[in-house]
Amino acid sequence: MDQTLTIALSKGRILKDTLPLLKAAGIEPIEDIFTSRKLIFETNVPGVNFVILRATDVPSYVELGAADLGVSGKDVLLEHGGKGMYELVDLNIARCKLMTAGIDDVEPEGRLKVATKFVNVTKRYYAELGRQVDIIKLYGAMELAPIMGLADRIVDIVDTGNTLRANGLKPFEEIADISSRLVAGKSAYKNKHHLIQPIIEKLDRAINEAKELEAKELEAQG
Ligand code: AMP
Repeated sequence: MDQTLTIALSKGRILKDTLPLLKAAGIEPIEDIFTSRKLIFETNVPGVNFVILRATDVPSYVELGAADLGVSGKDVLLEHGGKGMYELVDLNIARCKLMTAGIDDVEPEGRLKVATKFVNVTKRYYAELGRQVDIIKLYGAMELAPIMGLADRIVDIVDTGNTLRANGLKPFEEIADISSRLVAGKSAYKNKHHLIQPIIEKLDRAINEAKELEAKELEAQG
């Protein structure tokens, strides 16, 4: 039976929150991911490796079977389409919202110009509303688009709302609740179920403990 498991992780802010959960599931890298320039890391579990990818590349690796499992933001999964994989666990980390935002809450008549890096999600959202839009694909600094007159709206990730506020923008409609998810390729889920199922169970336990702790802390704060 195949005892190897490759887990694709998103580098950046999600990684810091993901590693403690994987540790609670009994898997930890044998060297420090944050100080190494390597991209593949062995773990304390023989046969289990981490690969560190750009967040937007995780779904491709998992869908095509180059990685068995992946940790990916729901925003990235929605944009990718989530084909060829199962979403197994809501890790309840890196929580935020995908929202529309802009300067003026009065929408212009006619076609709406919307700047975003989430082109597919944005197309689907406005199509469901029956709203005609022109989508402008950007790769960063979305907040600039309405200020510079490039777009009427942006679709972007909002956490505290500070970035929007600092640039004179307001959040309008919420498109989706975002958090990181554990995903598995369909064939990996079938062929490596014996390896994946115990990880799911341990993650569920660790997530529930984290939620209980959070609830207690909130209660203590009154
Ligand atoms: P904030 O100013 O707290 O609303 O954060 C907004 C910016 O931080 C967004 O433009 C995102 O690029 C980034 N951000 C915040 N939370 C996340 C997250 N969970 N995943 C990805 N990017 C995020």
